[in-house]
Amino acid sequence: MTYDLIIVGSGPAGMTASVYASRYSLKHIVIGELMGGLAGESHKICNYPSETEISGMELVQKMQKHAEHLGAEIVADKIIDITRKNDLFIAKTQNKKEFTSKTILLASGTERRKLNLKKEKEFLGKGLSYCATCDAMFYRGKTVAVIGGSDSATSAAVYLAKVAKKVYQIYRRAELRGEVAWIEQAKADPKIEIIYNTNVVELLGKEKLNAIKLDQAYKKQTEISVDGLFIEVGFEPNTVLADKLNLKLDEKYHIIVGPGQTASEDGIWAAGDITTNSNSFKQVITACAEGAVAAENIYKYLQLKINQQHAK
Ligand code: NAP
Repeated sequence: MTYDLIIVGSGPAGMTASVYASRYSLKHIVIGELMGGLAGESHKICNYPSETEISGMELVQKMQKHAEHLGAEIVADKIIDITRKNDLFIAKTQNKKEFTSKTILLASGTERRKLNLKKEKEFLGKGLSYCATCDAMFYRGKTVAVIGGSDSATSAAVYLAKVAKKVYQIYRRAELRGEVAWIEQAKADPKIEIIYNTNVVELLGKEKLNAIKLDQAYKKQTEISVDGLFIEVGFEPNTVLADKLNLKLDEKYHIIVGPGQTASEDGIWAAGDITTNSNSFKQVITACAEGAVAAENIYKYLQLKINQQHAK
């Protein structure tokens, strides 16, 4: 069977593209490794219009339900390769499935950035985490640190302060950046201590992490004892499929797209955090918008192809 469209990624961009694709009657499939994408790991989303306050998981589940209600075929799997054969794309998955389609929409988002410190891999799950929403409950009444100074780090600090005894937020610059609402909450929380102009340079502990070393003294000490460390230093696009498809990327490895979310190769679109669009403002709402624009543009592209064939 040949699909009109394969949507790679099941986060907000992919699910919205699916909703629009269904409304345009495009035969499509959504294939994503992490249902709902990383937005599902957000503990609280307060800026998605119509939802005053909602957990990331609840919001992405609503999106999935909406897509399914319109008949979407959604598969939990990872696309590991896409090749072209004549005018069609063949996508291969980790579970050894193969899907064929006329067009591709890459909406596979980004991956958590690592600090690449010694022992970072070793301590993962042993005092070190990249997801406050997932792991905060393990630190009830304990002391934790969060690294980073933008929305993920600051919202993580606010969330962790609800369960932990003490939260250090360690940031390499002089002032936090991002959404003012989060910054104000963090600064007003007596449990949160922000350490500015500082980097974590070493992870300490034997079996598990129990302290961190700073690149300069804070309150006369360069080591801070912590029960847990949350690394919230942003995200990076996974370029495997974009490279295989020969797509043009910017210097930060985002897929360069045009106004209709078109990538640099014919028949391929991209939407969401993986792209250069929306002024690099990576939000659930902008990912959804890019998914909608892409689906409409794909519909027009396929219509044009049909019209061209009829004219022959
Ligand atoms: P981000 O905005 O890219 O910020 C990454 C943070 O980590 C920055 O503070 C950065 O420092 C720091 N950092 C990066 N590499 C580092 C390193 N090697 N060592 C130390 N610090 C490092 O990432 P994000 O906070 O994950 O946010 C990603 C996107 O999601 C943003 O568009 C954000 O607005 C959005 N988001 C929104 C919300 C919300 O509630 N509205 C919540 C979460 C995320 P510098 O500041 O020096 O670059």
